[in-house]
Amino acid sequence: MNIFEIINKSQNQRPLLKEEIFWLVDQFTQDKIPDYQMSAWLATVFINHLSDEETAWLTEALCLSGEKLTWTEPTIDKHSTGGVGDKTSLIIAPLVSSLGYKVPMMAGRGLGHTGGTIDKLESIGFKTSLDVNDFKTFVHTIGTCIMGQSENFCPADKRLYALRDATHTVANIPLICSSIMSKKIAEGLRGLVLDIKFGSGAFMPTFEKSKMLAQKLISIGQKNNIITFGVLSSMEQPLGRYIGNKLEVFECLEILKDPEQCFEKYEDNILLSLLLSALMIYALKPESPLEKHFEDVYNQLMSGKAYDKFVEMIETQGGGLTAFFSKTASTEENIISWGSDFKYAPKAKKYTLLSNEDGFMNYKDVKALGFAAVSLGAGRFTKEDQIDFEVGFYCHKKQSDRVKKSEALFDIYYNDDIKLKNTLLKLNIAFEIAKDTKTISNSPIVKNILSYDGTSYSEIHFKNKFLEV
Ligand code: URA
Repeated sequence: MNIFEIINKSQNQRPLLKEEIFWLVDQFTQDKIPDYQMSAWLATVFINHLSDEETAWLTEALCLSGEKLTWTEPTIDKHSTGGVGDKTSLIIAPLVSSLGYKVPMMAGRGLGHTGGTIDKLESIGFKTSLDVNDFKTFVHTIGTCIMGQSENFCPADKRLYALRDATHTVANIPLICSSIMSKKIAEGLRGLVLDIKFGSGAFMPTFEKSKMLAQKLISIGQKNNIITFGVLSSMEQPLGRYIGNKLEVFECLEILKDPEQCFEKYEDNILLSLLLSALMIYALKPESPLEKHFEDVYNQLMSGKAYDKFVEMIETQGGGLTAFFSKTASTEENIISWGSDFKYAPKAKKYTLLSNEDGFMNYKDVKALGFAAVSLGAGRFTKEDQIDFEVGFYCHKKQSDRVKKSEALFDIYYNDDIKLKNTLLKLNIAFEIAKDTKTISNSPIVKNILSYDGTSYSEIHFKNKFLEV
């Protein structure tokens, strides 16, 4: 077997054998296939795709490149296909585990225009490179642990993920399915909720493609004996208000600390986090209605116990909240006030972009908004790029919000004047101030909840005073 034959077969749309896919993954993981040859194969797959059978083998090969965990208790997790301002993991892990469930969470770094949980947690000094035994111990004792792929746990995905990020080969159904599901199968889960994004900030260009991605992901989960649900959620606007690593941690802390006070401001982020959490529990306890689980997670969030769990996670995995509790900030203007105790000042300058007309906010290209954040330094263009954890945006306006001339649209936290200029150019593509709301795409936060029984897909209906799906 050699890499030329494999690239050649994929280029000519001839199916690869299971042995060839396992060999490719194994050789790449051992550094016997260089990045440039693997990139050529990725680019070929990006254009020509893989069959469902090849995708299943790639998933298995990535999963078996490291350890596969087993547990004495049932475990649950959620994973997102990636979005802009998509930070629900930071709320869900402490929330669900504070209710006594075991949540092992294998997360990733920023990918393309989207942020990654691992980068966000590292922005507050959280240790995310862990030994698998520590990971298991923390899940047993604390109830949850978040770590990245490592040399022992999905090492092949760790390498491939970074290469896909740098070669712009993320947005491909077989590659996304194998990357996500290899980690979830290796986690040894009983239940899984997948948050599949649709809209201009999603990897898939249309709702139909996002739904197809959802179905493929769910069926791989079910075939691997994981009770899997898929939630199709909107990425037609950024989720919540902040975009950027430390800024996004700040938003989640604000929610965990005082959800009632910031409910309106972060409504979409809070409701999506609650629904995903409720579904995770529903996967283990289908005898109670989803609405009842939603009520339980809502009450738990309001009680402050999820915040206490987050603090416990930080005490266990390192990191600190001092930046958020500090009363001294570089300049008064930079301080984001948070009640009377908390003040967070990003170590960055602030530029506020004002509207020069009246109208309504239309996020017409959320992917461009994500890349605008990457341009500021919140993400990577090469594998070696260092992230600036302090930079990012605060979005004053949600989709279709009324805008008055001279009102603030975005606070931009930046550390480099040239990057700010580039970012402003990208922002011009990302949004417009529309004259009316007729042309603005404004889907509900969640459009569908999907399940699969091995032969057909069905929709789960949900209704309470906050959401109807
Ligand atoms: N998340 C992953 O882990 N992998 C992908 O390819 C996309 C999102």
